[in-house]
Amino acid sequence: MTDLIAAILAEVAASRAALVALTQDLVRIPTLNPPGRNYRELVEWLGARMQAHGWQVELIRATGAIGDSDTWPRWNMVARFEGARPGDCVHFNGHHDVVEVGHGWTRDPFAAEIEGGRIYGRGTCDMKGGIATAIIAAEAFIAANPDFAGTIEVSATADEESGGYGGVAYLAEQGYFSPERVQHVIIPEPLNKDRICLGHRGVWWAEIETRGRIAHGSMPFLGDSAIRHMGAVLEEMERSLYPLLAGKRTEMPVVPDGAKQSTLNINSIHGGEPEPEPGFTGFPAPCVADRCTIVIDRRFVIEEDLADVKGEVKSLMERVKAARPGFAYEIRDMHEVIPTMTDAGAAVVRSTAAAIEKVLGARPDYVVSPGTYDQKHIDRIGRLHNCIAYGPGVLDLAHQPDEWIGIDDMMDSARVMALVLAELL
Ligand SMILES: [Zn+2]
Repeated sequence: MTDLIAAILAEVAASRAALVALTQDLVRIPTLNPPGRNYRELVEWLGARMQAHGWQVELIRATGAIGDSDTWPRWNMVARFEGARPGDCVHFNGHHDVVEVGHGWTRDPFAAEIEGGRIYGRGTCDMKGGIATAIIAAEAFIAANPDFAGTIEVSATADEESGGYGGVAYLAEQGYFSPERVQHVIIPEPLNKDRICLGHRGVWWAEIETRGRIAHGSMPFLGDSAIRHMGAVLEEMERSLYPLLAGKRTEMPVVPDGAKQSTLNINSIHGGEPEPEPGFTGFPAPCVADRCTIVIDRRFVIEEDLADVKGEVKSLMERVKAARPGFAYEIRDMHEVIPTMTDAGAAVVRSTAAAIEKVLGARPDYVVSPGTYDQKHIDRIGRLHNCIAYGPGVLDLAHQPDEWIGIDDMMDSARVMALVLAELL
């Protein structure tokens, strides 16, 4: 072990109390999303803390982004530390929003209590613990190696849990993730300290509507039921589409294994008259439904093309149409994300793998996420492809009651991140 690596690891080891305190301070600011509470308080507090440690700090409101309003402004922080010489820029990005508390907690979700080597609270694992880990790792690296080459950035961004438009997407549009500015990105999402996440599957959300003709429910033959038409669509999905998707296995290392293929979820279905208002005690009126809609969530793999994914559904609808007189439909696109997977040979991947081996004595697992996260914006808007997710915490605990993060796991990940900086800068 070189002297520099020993010095960096000693700095990390000396920062344990600071890492715990920083995580607790972040968790104690409840940045619930929706609606986006306390975003400004969090970035102002964190920005001041970073400035006091020598970082240049910018607070950026995503004015006009989806979700931004004067009542619930979308605030982000970018902190930057320039080394003594020119070199690459390594950027750590974490989202500062947390999801609702939900039921089933046995502890105060915003007290950040410590017990048995764990910190408990909403956002400990997803992902304020990860943000704190990256900051402490960067500061340990800087302390041990003040004349490093290049730049380190840390951002705490809004709204990842609701799509990231008021967070990473906004910063990417402003050029914060352009390849000229940033060369390597690490997102410390809770993916376990020995795993490197290279990317995610693609998404296509669409609303499908079938149409009919309204008539009296006692004489349905005078109308045309949009719900029965939709029933035929669902039957055709069961018969032909689900088996087709099950056969589309991917080479992407998606976890869990069930997601190592194309999948389709039907998020919702609605047909006929609206649900009665709460408190209404009467009967519904007898009508043939003239509209039925479903929202589909199709997740696709890197071997597939978005146009083909849409084409499969279109041709399914055409098959149903050919078999059913009077069948009319519309497909409306809602949202799409192209699958992304960083090359395992990229410098950020290789140096993280080497650091994991050094710290944990085992080779990392490479994984791909079944769902998307902020990497999509860095990849598509920022056009930066050297991006991974790597961070402490157990993914399954995210969004759960009694969420926690292990302090030793954060310390190990901080060692890994500090060594990655030593390698890249
Ligand atoms: Zn997260």
